[in-house]
Amino acid sequence: MSQYSILILPGDGIGTEVMDEVRKIIDWFDSKRGLDFDVIEDLVGGAAYDTYGTPLADSTMDKAQEVDAVLLGAVGGPAYDDLDFSLKPERGLLRIRKEMDLFANLRPAQCFDALADFSSLKKDIVSGLDIMIVRELTSGTYFGEPRGITTENNERVGVNTMRYTESEIERVARAAFELAKRRNNKLCSMEKANVLEVGVLWRDIVEEVHKSNYPEIELSHMYADNGAMQLVRQPKQFDVILTDNLFGDLLSDCAAMLTGSLGMLPSASLGAKMENGRPKAMYEPVHGSAPDIMGQGKANPSACILSFAMALRYSFDQGDEATRLENAIQSVLASGIRTPDLMQIEGDVPVSTTEMGDAVIDALNNSL
Ligand code: NAD
Repeated sequence: MSQYSILILPGDGIGTEVMDEVRKIIDWFDSKRGLDFDVIEDLVGGAAYDTYGTPLADSTMDKAQEVDAVLLGAVGGPAYDDLDFSLKPERGLLRIRKEMDLFANLRPAQCFDALADFSSLKKDIVSGLDIMIVRELTSGTYFGEPRGITTENNERVGVNTMRYTESEIERVARAAFELAKRRNNKLCSMEKANVLEVGVLWRDIVEEVHKSNYPEIELSHMYADNGAMQLVRQPKQFDVILTDNLFGDLLSDCAAMLTGSLGMLPSASLGAKMENGRPKAMYEPVHGSAPDIMGQGKANPSACILSFAMALRYSFDQGDEATRLENAIQSVLASGIRTPDLMQIEGDVPVSTTEMGDAVIDALNNSL
């Protein structure tokens, strides 16, 4: 039996192009590092709609529930814009997150030295930046009831509800403390306890989890609006940031952009531990299917490759191999090999998606 099972869902647009490069990387770790992967592949998003008439077939969902990790490319595209909401490519992605109950969304914001000039902030503020945002993903304002648009006193009223149970806060807090333990023992929790009752409960629960299980971790609390300011003022003060679904949506995008390009940003979504002790997990780049560049060999595969590095670390407990892969990307960038999204100097010759993947393989070979 294989050591690690993976379901690959390339999806649409550049999702298929960047995933081709990840496949090469998986094969490299299989043949050169003895990691035994059992890889199966299926469709999601528009590609699944074209074949199965639904953005995620039940049989694909069943496979996702069984494997150690799902690797997803990207979904969506103009061809599917007019579909009914229930059939849109994004519904496939949302179904996986919901049915696997992937409640902890990990969004690293790491600034590769070679890309420090890409940030909108000054180089010395972002250079060496390495933070991790843990965003609660399956509850809060985006899911709370009641919700909807009604009419009251002859005018329309829009309603959404920010709602969290103790157990929902506790499980994502534990995930964040565990992560802080693997990194630098430092966690900052962000909410709005000054104006929201949910924030007061959030702070209480995080304190309780800290006291009873993780007293060695340095815990701080910050109002989320201040957190946004601090992220652009002095981002290196943070290591792991824990926050809810709504604030996390904004804070993680803000932190991610400190590092430059969408083509460099990975993510992981983790759920409860399975019988084998591994968490339910899906790994995917932050970017979408980029219809404007699809089929042109211009996509940067780094975000998807770095998502696989997260799988090595968080699903397969291969932290050293994850670091090897991250270092390989770092050295490729440092040598000046860049996809078009990372071009800086006029006259720079960009490499294609495939050439970028090949360069990462060369760097991996050099690491042996
Ligand atoms: P996008 O992320 O696809 O693209 C935004 C811009 O960034 C584009 O100019 C694109 O060319 C560029 N870009 C993105 N990834 C890149 C990469 N790896 N290398 C180089 N350049 C890259 O966002 P969008 O244009 O708003 O959305 C396009 C489609 O993707 C829509 O259908 C949207 O719904 C979908 N989408 C899917 C996901 C997902 O699958 N998780 C996320 C966001 C958007």
